[in-house]
Amino acid sequence: MDVSLSAEDQAFRDEVRAFLGENAYQAGTNYMEWRLGWFAKAREKGGWDVPKWPTDFGGPGWSPTQHYIWEQETARSTTPMDAPFGVGMLAPILMGYGTQEQQDRFLPDIRARTVNWCQGYSEPGAGSDLASLRTKAVLSDDGTHYTVNGQKIWTTMAHMADWIFCLTRTDDSGIKQEGITFLLFPMNQEGVEVKPIITLGGAHSVNSVFITDVEVPVENRVGEEGKGWTYAKGLLQHERTGLAGLSRSLVALEKLKGQARTVTRGNGTLMDDPSFATKVAELEIDLMAAEFTELRSLAAASHGKDPGPESSILKLKGTEIQQRIAKLTVEAGGIYSAVRGGGSAGPGFAQNGMSSYLASRAYTIYGGASEVQKDVIAKNVLGLKRG
Ligand SMILES: Cc1cc2nc3c(=O)[nH]c(=O)nc-3n(C[C@H](O)[C@H](O)[C@H](O)COP(=O)(O)OP(=O)(O)OC[C@H]3O[C@@H](n4cnc5c(N)ncnc54)[C@H](O)[C@@H]3O)c2cc1C
Repeated sequence: MDVSLSAEDQAFRDEVRAFLGENAYQAGTNYMEWRLGWFAKAREKGGWDVPKWPTDFGGPGWSPTQHYIWEQETARSTTPMDAPFGVGMLAPILMGYGTQEQQDRFLPDIRARTVNWCQGYSEPGAGSDLASLRTKAVLSDDGTHYTVNGQKIWTTMAHMADWIFCLTRTDDSGIKQEGITFLLFPMNQEGVEVKPIITLGGAHSVNSVFITDVEVPVENRVGEEGKGWTYAKGLLQHERTGLAGLSRSLVALEKLKGQARTVTRGNGTLMDDPSFATKVAELEIDLMAAEFTELRSLAAASHGKDPGPESSILKLKGTEIQQRIAKLTVEAGGIYSAVRGGGSAGPGFAQNGMSSYLASRAYTIYGGASEVQKDVIAKNVLGLKRG
């Protein structure tokens, strides 16, 4: 997309490029040390380690264009792995609803990436219909702690997390959205058992988490008892905006075109095949349209607004685009896409193609399934009412 940049924005882009170039990972160095060092240096730049945080909490206060530039440039570079749960998801909730003490206690480690968090929302029987969750938290008679019992499922990175932010039920006498309470507790304690779930693509990233008689001090409750649903809903909007991955898709699509040009078809390459080229063109058009929506969402955010229901449009379209790219990559790699975990058959880009494609099937499920996003768009964007 052609976004014309002012002289200041061009200077900013050059500064970002220089930063990413100077701090790129050097093969053979310790990855974890590099990762923490990278975030520390990004922080010294004036909040580049937490681009979306408000300035009051140390964010850089960028304009929508600067955010756009950052997304574009980081998508093209190798930046350190950064799970969204702490900086992107829990932090905004703590800033909005946490006590000063909770902010002081948790935000510094979240920012430094020294404490890993996981998100304990979904349960067997409570995914799309999250408000049906049943993990129970009972307040002690002296009001000092909750005792939590239940099961969470699909908990990403639970096996590597230090803490969990968890939705629990403290009251089931009213409508199901009421009586939900937002608690924080450490994973490494008796009563928290993590069991792996291996997904279609063959990877271990999600888990079941069994919670048995875990005591959580009331100081670890975020906001009011029974109001967790309100906080969780806000968090989902942040999560959805982050899942669209449009800048990464732009880079992936360019890469795919290059790969397709290396595959022979008749007298030319796969990119000369009208059927394949049409699919690529359709993808490009949809990606461009989604980018405009993202810029609108960034503009709203720069005026202090929450992402709002447009985040559902971005989640829906962005994840479908990622899946279509994964599918076309398999198409380009042909039978060699079935190769997994090394081997020398076929073009290098095809390897693990199928397992990446299978893993991408989850994109339209987590963070709210596509059907649910369509419901949100119908109601809150288009203003349609159920007939
Ligand atoms: C890889 C992966 C990682 C995840 N990570 C996490 C995590 O870290 N933390 C966490 O809490 N959860 C996580 N989840 C859970 C995820 O949020 C849920 O899977 C998702 O909300 C869907 O819920 P469900 O699996 O119970 O499916 P269901 O809600 O049972 O849905 C099954 C099908 O029914 C459809 N459906 C449901 N309701 C409607 C409706 N009203 N109208 C039309 N169709 C409907 C759905 O679209 C879907 O196709 C993860 C899931 C995956 C796959």
